[in-house]
Amino acid sequence: MPSEFELIQDYFNWQQASHSVPIGVGDDAAVLNLPKSQKQQLVVSVDTFIEGVHFPENTPADAIGHKALAVNLSDLAAMGAEPAWFTLALTLPEANPTWLHHFSKGLKKLADQHKITLIGGDTTRGTLSITIQVMGFIDTGKALLRCNAKPKDKIYVSGTLGDAAIGLALLQERLESPHISPQANQFCQDALNYPQPQNLLSKIIKPYTNACLDISDGLLQDLGHILKASTVGARLELDKIPLSDSALENGRKKALPYALTGGDDYQLLFTIAEKNEPLLLYAVAKTNDKISCIGEINSQTGNVTDDFGNLISTKGYQHF
Ligand code: ADP
Ligand code: MG
Repeated sequence: MPSEFELIQDYFNWQQASHSVPIGVGDDAAVLNLPKSQKQQLVVSVDTFIEGVHFPENTPADAIGHKALAVNLSDLAAMGAEPAWFTLALTLPEANPTWLHHFSKGLKKLADQHKITLIGGDTTRGTLSITIQVMGFIDTGKALLRCNAKPKDKIYVSGTLGDAAIGLALLQERLESPHISPQANQFCQDALNYPQPQNLLSKIIKPYTNACLDISDGLLQDLGHILKASTVGARLELDKIPLSDSALENGRKKALPYALTGGDDYQLLFTIAEKNEPLLLYAVAKTNDKISCIGEINSQTGNVTDDFGNLISTKGYQHF
């Protein structure tokens, strides 16, 4: 078993000194060079990831590494920020080299994809828990906030919703009469274990977007956050909510509740003024990303209604 210092050196000391990180992993603290320009702001977010709460026991180690960083990158995407650095506080029941190898590999692969640098952390013994803090930059005053949705804005969502929640239900054998192929099952497991944070899409939609967040606790609950912060309401077109072919194998009626209230989507939910819609659609059409208009903001504060004007409850996953 590696000692604590060998463990850090072997699995988490990835980076040579660089211009923005003259001192990273290895000293008592990291030393970072901030951008010279006064025109940028630092954006910071932290999330803890606990076995049995945020991921089921027996989740592959590389998936734990991937997902712990993905959920944090997703918060930067939701703000429209450019990823820069992250720290890793790791609590492990034991220093298992195989587990550490795969965890560190999953984490580094996603970090490299998004050009975010691991600059330090902490390593302790205890129940498996991972805390990652991400830092990124944004042009001053340009952060995408929850409080900027306006009546008549169109409501958009990226990707498809509910796949991860269906993956979890399949894993826990909770899905009623699951008529789902092995391929669709795999797709939903991958959505659960390897969520893809929407940082590239975030850059593209940013110029046109009023309010934005990432969906982590279910579409309705997270939409509720935008409505509350912006003191507006929303009308949803439930048949426009994007579902994957895999989710649809079990029928739209069975899949829709997972899309509305299931967690772990890490897709972007954003609102834009109608006049910006053609520009948004033109910009997104040049990418491989998919976005769907699922409704409209109105002035009925806090209310979500369906196409027929029926009220919909905005409950999703809550820890307490
Ligand atoms: P200290 O005793 O000052 O808390 P540590 O022994 O915890 O220092 O850490 C030594 C160095 O290793 C520091 O630079 C710290 O940021 C880094 N480090 C510790 N654990 C991790 C980790 N899990 N991932 C990345 N860097 C880490
Ligand atoms: Mg320490």
